[in-house]
Amino acid sequence: MPELPEVEVIRRGLTPHLVGRTITRVMISNRRLRLPVPRAKLNLWIQSDRVKSVDRRAKYLLVRMNNGAMLVLHLGMTGRLAFFANGAPRAVHDHLRFKLDSGLELRFNDVRRFGSVQVLGPEDVKGTQIFAGLGPEPLGPDFSSDYLLERAQSKVRPIKNFLMDARVVVGIGNIYANEILFAAGIKPTRGVGTLGKSAWERVIQASRQVLEQAIACGGTTISDYVRSSGETGYFQCELRVYGRKGEACQRCRSLISRQVLAGRATFYCPRCQR
Ligand SMILES: [Zn+2]
Repeated sequence: MPELPEVEVIRRGLTPHLVGRTITRVMISNRRLRLPVPRAKLNLWIQSDRVKSVDRRAKYLLVRMNNGAMLVLHLGMTGRLAFFANGAPRAVHDHLRFKLDSGLELRFNDVRRFGSVQVLGPEDVKGTQIFAGLGPEPLGPDFSSDYLLERAQSKVRPIKNFLMDARVVVGIGNIYANEILFAAGIKPTRGVGTLGKSAWERVIQASRQVLEQAIACGGTTISDYVRSSGETGYFQCELRVYGRKGEACQRCRSLISRQVLAGRATFYCPRCQR
């Protein structure tokens, strides 16, 4: 499943090919995605208009149009976006095709169809409930130690579960939560109410470092993705604790431990992480 860094890499890969381009035609298969495909709104707001920008909120890609409408894409488990030459043979799971005035077409392919495509008209963009209840972006300014201190106050919840809660902060999945806590030197089971401001500063710094490094690793796959034989090449940087049970810690040579926390595989160094 694509995580925040993968979605950010896709956003960066889409931008140069979409921004400033007119979507001349939208073609839709008859298959249902996680939500029904909004055929009428795609025709009304997306077809024949020009793309203004490609943004991201959590794991949603936001294609903003010149007319003020917004196309909201979520890749679900197996969704892929790729560019093809106009008229290239259509694959079985290509559910949407956006023809561009550049001679390329953007295709949304999704084998398991847990992905979604939504369209917000200019009047709906502001009041949309799609992003209601989502916490701040981990790479944005609202993810601060003051914010975390307040959210964590007198709670006994393990920090790993806390970081994976999208109401607290979006886009930190299981693998990255493990890596962030190793980088911050904090044990995954530590109750959030026991952490002070400086520990939260370390968590914020570690989050940025781990996620930005993951984005940078993915940067090399952008050209593959755009060339697009349909392979998006979701990626993983070298991981320092995840999947390394029994291996030596890269920092202190102690052996990495594994336990299951809230049903998820959890890896940590018993010496470096307190
Ligand atoms: Zn260690």
